[in-house]
Amino acid sequence: MNPEQHAPARVPSTRPTPAGSCRLSIVVPCFNEADSLAALHGRLTAVAQRTVGESYEIVLVNDGSTDRTLAAMRALATEDSHLVCIDLARNHGHQLALTAGLALCRGERILIIDADLQDPPELLEEMMNRMDQGADVVYGQRQERHGETWFKKITAALFYRILYSFSSIRIPVDTGDFRLMSRRVLSVLNDMPEQHRFIRGMVAWVGFRQEAVPYVREPRYAGSTKYTLGKMFSFAIDAITGFSTRPLHLSFYLALTAMAGAAALALYALVQWSKGDTIAGWTSLILVVSVFSSIQLFCLGIMGAYLGRTYLEAKRRPLFVIREVITQTGLSSGECPPSPPSSVSLS
Ligand code: UDP
Ligand code: MG
Repeated sequence: MNPEQHAPARVPSTRPTPAGSCRLSIVVPCFNEADSLAALHGRLTAVAQRTVGESYEIVLVNDGSTDRTLAAMRALATEDSHLVCIDLARNHGHQLALTAGLALCRGERILIIDADLQDPPELLEEMMNRMDQGADVVYGQRQERHGETWFKKITAALFYRILYSFSSIRIPVDTGDFRLMSRRVLSVLNDMPEQHRFIRGMVAWVGFRQEAVPYVREPRYAGSTKYTLGKMFSFAIDAITGFSTRPLHLSFYLALTAMAGAAALALYALVQWSKGDTIAGWTSLILVVSVFSSIQLFCLGIMGAYLGRTYLEAKRRPLFVIREVITQTGLSSGECPPSPPSSVSLS
């Protein structure tokens, strides 16, 4: 086994073969997805071969799974030379696992897809057509979501709309990371050093021509969602703080409102005092203290969220740590992947 190595925060091209050496890379982050991998591999292979022949690679990223995901990847990699399996040193989370795959892939066009087959790989053909006509990013936009709870559907719909109204970047609603993008978009994305990555927003930030393809999201093929309530919440905070400083302005407006309230109260108190009726009521006192202190704490919380993120960004730690890159051994030549190494040298 190779010693653990890591990528610097600014992600360089980490494979010996130049980027663009195959027509298509399919990048899949995987966390405890052992039961989906065989079906996923079958459907991805079929659609890739229909679309680009043999010039493709499938980059599977094992994000510190605790089930048989890594063993299943190894088994697939011994049989299929198109597979590149990246084993991360621990669970880094969905967005960083994706970042690792995007840093190491080499295709001219890059498809991002989840491992659970909720998003149909077959949409690739339509996406490729759109890109042939000049689009740089073609993203899947969910018209319906099957097999998900009401809670998930409502919170997801709310999240995308709040984010849309907060951010000056037009981040499309009801859109996950399922998308095809060009190498020039990925190069910009790989140069973005932030730790708290909200990749669908970062891609929107890059610009060029970006188009939507509507689709229906299916239930998971196997297993259950890896986004717990806590993870969903911190993902939402990352997205909002990463793409808007409006919450900071919100605390300013809240403070203005609070000041207006305080002025009105002061006026009231003065009038009461001038009438000689100065016995303050306990209820109003408690109300004033609790309302103003909660507004202050709320504002402090918003500032804390930004300060904490600034602190973590300032450390400039690597975004992810790779334990091993696994490919079929004994590859001779071929368009893609032409003998990638079993480990990466990232210095
Ligand atoms: N995932 C990951 N690391 C994590 C959580 C999730 O790599 O810590 C992967 C997961 O295996 C899947 C994708 O990210 O391929 C999306 O996760 P999931 O399907 O659980 O999210 P949902 O579709 O429920 O929002
Ligand atoms: Mg899913």
